[in-house]
Amino acid sequence: MSDSSVFSRMPETGGVRERLLAATRAAHYRFARGLALAGYERVSSLADVQGSGNAEQEASESEGGEVPRDSDMTHAWLFTGPAGSGRSVTAKAFAAALLCTNHDNPGCGGCEGCRTALAGTHGDIKIIRTEGTIIPVKTVRDEIRPWAYKLPTTADCRVLIIEDADRLNDQASNAMLKLVEEPPLRTVIIMCAPTANPEDFSVTLRSRCRHVYVPTPHTEDVVQLLLAERPDLTQEQAQWAATVSNGHIGRARGFVSDEGSRAWRSKALDFAEAVFDPAKSYLVARELANEVTGEVKRRMESVEQAELEKLEQSLGVGASGKGAQAALRGSKGVIKELEENQKRRRRRAESDLIDLSLTDIMGLYRDALLISSGVAADSGEGIGLINPDRRRTAQELARRLPAESLLESIDAISGVRDMLKSAVRNGVLLDELMAKLQIAGQVGRR
Ligand SMILES: [Zn+2]
Repeated sequence: MSDSSVFSRMPETGGVRERLLAATRAAHYRFARGLALAGYERVSSLADVQGSGNAEQEASESEGGEVPRDSDMTHAWLFTGPAGSGRSVTAKAFAAALLCTNHDNPGCGGCEGCRTALAGTHGDIKIIRTEGTIIPVKTVRDEIRPWAYKLPTTADCRVLIIEDADRLNDQASNAMLKLVEEPPLRTVIIMCAPTANPEDFSVTLRSRCRHVYVPTPHTEDVVQLLLAERPDLTQEQAQWAATVSNGHIGRARGFVSDEGSRAWRSKALDFAEAVFDPAKSYLVARELANEVTGEVKRRMESVEQAELEKLEQSLGVGASGKGAQAALRGSKGVIKELEENQKRRRRRAESDLIDLSLTDIMGLYRDALLISSGVAADSGEGIGLINPDRRRTAQELARRLPAESLLESIDAISGVRDMLKSAVRNGVLLDELMAKLQIAGQVGRR
């Protein structure tokens, strides 16, 4: 596989790349013969389609096993994986491989199909992403279905990607189920969700999809991806971002492109340093809590304002004349609903931001543990550390705390992470974290 192949953008971890490569080959085998994608369940192998023996047997008999297994490909996929593991990156790379026009080397990375698919401008790829807390059934009916049932324009198939498919509400899930059960002839559906847990994703819908788990990638995978996406980066920059993001692709991207992301990380690591400074520790905790609220407000405000204006416009708020008063009264409930949704979304964004900070703090304690166990002690360059630029802080932690206290601190962070799921206020949560880290760190006992 060459570096330019779209498969180099997929993690090698967990066999993701191999599975999707096999699926792509099976799909292109069909494309090259003018066959549709749908109907996999009705034919057991390509050989049946062609009216000759057994495809797998044929594959092993032919030179180099050139006939792929038909069963490697299907029309509906569910990609799950932890935050930042690269579900949607993988989905897009897979889409490019399917839309590639080079049947002999699908996913070549060089053809028009591959390039426009990766850039998101290919007419046969549609990506559904939402800023909202749910994907309503309207989106499936009005936007997704009509698109999915059209035939491809230039490629051999169309690819529909739904990011955050966990946000499909019940009705929308049912509508998607119908689409998957009566599949369009030439459309591949890829749904991405953090988990396939029943509370996040419809069980019935899941049972109709091929499930691919995209695990947190190795640092080296992230470096490769960053360099593929941003040829202007130096190896060193990519390496740094991949290391400190600890395999979180979205964050690594943020670190190379956005000063704000780097600053946010510093704040979290400063929090960890304040644990041993009782005079200011609670101030730091309170400050971080306030900044979380401010940061989310800053990121969301303009989107929220635009949503409100759009809704008011569609409701005719501000219009005058007969009926306008009645319309205004009727619209109050709808506007309230939007505001409630926005509030929930802010809350979710705040939790996500705190979760990132907790991950950073945990990384620092892990580094201390590595140093204390001697694994990273004399490597000089800080090899193996998640935060090589905070090596001194990690060393200080390792010097102050025995290994069991470091472990206790890591457990404490996990405990506070679990609290994120409940409705505890940010200030309370970060106070709790500070207290627990101080107890684990035996602050004030010496
Ligand atoms: Zn190509």
